Amino acid sequence: MAPTLEGPARPLTELTEEESMFRSTVREIARREVAPHVRAMDEAGVFRPEILRAFFENGLMAIEVPEAYGGQGGSFFQSVLAVEELAAVDPSASVILDVQNTLVNNALLRWGSDEQKRQYLPKLASDTVGAYALSEAGSGSDAFALETKAASDGDGWVLNGRKMWITNAAEAGLYLVFANANPAAGYKGITCFLVERGFRGLKVGKKEEKLGIRASSTCELILDDCRVPAGNVLGEVGKGYKVAIETLNEGRIGIGGQMLGLAEGALGHASGYAKQRKQFGKPIAEFQGVQFEIAQMAVEVEAARLMVYNAARLRDAGKPFVAEAAMAKYYASTIAEQCASRAVEVLGGVGFTRDYPVEKLYRDAKIGRIYEGTSNMQRTVIARHILEKRS
Ligand SMILES: Cc1cc2nc3c(=O)[nH]c(=O)nc-3n(C[C@H](O)[C@H](O)[C@H](O)COP(=O)(O)OP(=O)(O)OC[C@H]3O[C@@H](n4cnc5c(N)ncnc54)[C@H](O)[C@@H]3O)c2cc1C
Repeated sequence: MAPTLEGPARPLTELTEEESMFRSTVREIARREVAPHVRAMDEAGVFRPEILRAFFENGLMAIEVPEAYGGQGGSFFQSVLAVEELAAVDPSASVILDVQNTLVNNALLRWGSDEQKRQYLPKLASDTVGAYALSEAGSGSDAFALETKAASDGDGWVLNGRKMWITNAAEAGLYLVFANANPAAGYKGITCFLVERGFRGLKVGKKEEKLGIRASSTCELILDDCRVPAGNVLGEVGKGYKVAIETLNEGRIGIGGQMLGLAEGALGHASGYAKQRKQFGKPIAEFQGVQFEIAQMAVEVEAARLMVYNAARLRDAGKPFVAEAAMAKYYASTIAEQCASRAVEVLGGVGFTRDYPVEKLYRDAKIGRIYEGTSNMQRTVIARHILEKRS
C-alpha cells in the first residue's frame, strides 16, 4: 500500500506486509537455492542454471513487470530488496537479477513500444536473461564516446563494433546494445537496439577472469555486420543517450542495494563468529575492541540502508532521486568494502581463507566502486547537483 500524506510518515526501513512477505520469499530462495553453491560457483566462475531457473520460477527476474506480461507487478523498491537479500548470501547472484530488473526490464518498460513489450517482456519474465551493453574498451566513464556504429540499410540496421564488460552476456538471450547511428551528431546519434542472441553477426566473446563476483559472467560482445530489424530500436533513433543515462540513474540504486546486502552479510558473519570464537577464556565478542568493530559495521550498514531505501522509495514515488541514488551507491559501496575488510579481521586467520565466506565478500566488494559509474563519477553527479542547487 502506498504511504499517504496524512498521519505520521512511515519509517523508511519499515516494510509493508507485501514487501515483508516478498523479502521472506527471496531470503528463503537465497538460503535454499544459492547458499549451498556459493563457493563452488565462485571457484568455477560459473553460475548454476538451476538457480537461474529458480529465479524465473519465483518471479524474481521480472519483479516490476506488470502481470499482463507475466511479471510480478511489484515495485522498484522490491527489486532493490531482492538484490539486497541475495547479495548478503552471494553478490554474484544478486547482480544477475539486478541487471535484469533495474536495467533491462526497466528500459523496456519505460521506452519500449507496445509491440516490443508484448514481444520481449513475457520472455524476460519466463526464461530469457537480459544484458545491457554500453561500455567499450575506449569508453567507460566517458560512455558516450562509444564507437560501435549502426548504419541504416533500408528495412533495418547493421551494427558493427565491440562491447566490453557485459554482465550476463554468457547467459543472455536479449542484449540492449548502444550504437551510434549518426556519429556526426556526437552523443545525439547514440541509439539503443534490442538485439537477440540469435541475430546474425552477434557473437559473445572472451569471458573475463575476475577478482570478485566471479560467478557473474562478464564478456565481450562482438557485432560484426549484425542485422537488427527496424522495429528493434528501443525509444527513438538518436535518443539512446537518454535511455542510457536514465536507466543507469535508477540502476545505481540497485548497486547500492547490492553493496548494502554485502555489508549486511559481512556483519552477520562477523557477529556470529565473534560470539562463538573463544580467546583468553571467553568469546571474543566480549572484548570491547571486537564490539567496537561490530558497532562500527552496524552503524555503516544502517546509514547505507537509509540512503538506499530512500533513493528507491523516491524513485517509486516519482520524485527527483538522481543525487540521492548517486550518494546511495557511492556510500554503500564504500562501506561494503570497509565492512568486508573488518569482517575478515574479526575472523582472524580463518577470515583470510576460502573456508569462510568473508574472504569472498572482501573480493566481491571492490566492484561496487567501479561498475555503473565509478565512485569518482558518482561524486561528479553529486557535486553537480549540490552546486546547481546552490547557484
Ligand atoms: C565486472 C564488471 C561488470 C560490468 N558490467 C557492465 C555491463 O553490464 N554493461 C556495461 O555497459 N558496462 C559494464 N561494465 C563496465 C563498467 O561500467 C566500467 O568499467 C566503468 O564505467 C568504468 O569504466 P572504465 O573501466 O573504462 O574505467 P575508466 O573510465 O577508464 O576509469 C579509470 C579511472 O579513472 C577515473 N576517471 C575517469 N574519468 C574521470 C573523470 N572525469 N573524473 C575523475 N575521475 C575519472 C575513474 O573514476 C577510474 O578510477 C562492467 C565492468 C566490470 C568490471
